[in-house]
Amino acid sequence: MSEENCVFCKIINKELPAHFIAENENVIVIKDITPKAPVHFLIIPKKHIVDVSQLTPQDRDYAADIVMMAQQLSEADSKQKSFRLVSNNGALVGQSVFHIHFHFLAGTTMAF
Ligand code: 5GP
Ligand code: ZN
Repeated sequence: MSEENCVFCKIINKELPAHFIAENENVIVIKDITPKAPVHFLIIPKKHIVDVSQLTPQDRDYAADIVMMAQQLSEADSKQKSFRLVSNNGALVGQSVFHIHFHFLAGTTMAF
């Protein structure tokens, strides 16, 4: 279920390189190429879904695995115990890659 010209589909299909942190049946975790925090991972479902508004009941396992993966990442390193999980949905709020993904941010103080 990949979409041509989608950078995240290409990374999922190993057609483009990325620093992989984790992978399971439903999601991958990679380092963000331009980190905004000392720890900045992207949790990306292996299905091309544009954003949260496009999720369907059939996508339940992807949605669940995103959150469960965040829990595993948090437990993997003490500096990731506190973390922020955030998803931009729509260009207006800063979405730049239109394949749903959640930013896993940690390792620093975040006021907002
Ligand atoms: P958005 O702006 O859509 O919320 O988040 C997209 C994120 O993907 C950005 O933080 C950006 O740095 C990251 N990104 C864009 N292209 C690539 C890439 O080719 N590789 C990796 N690892 N991250 C990317
Ligand atoms: Zn895609």
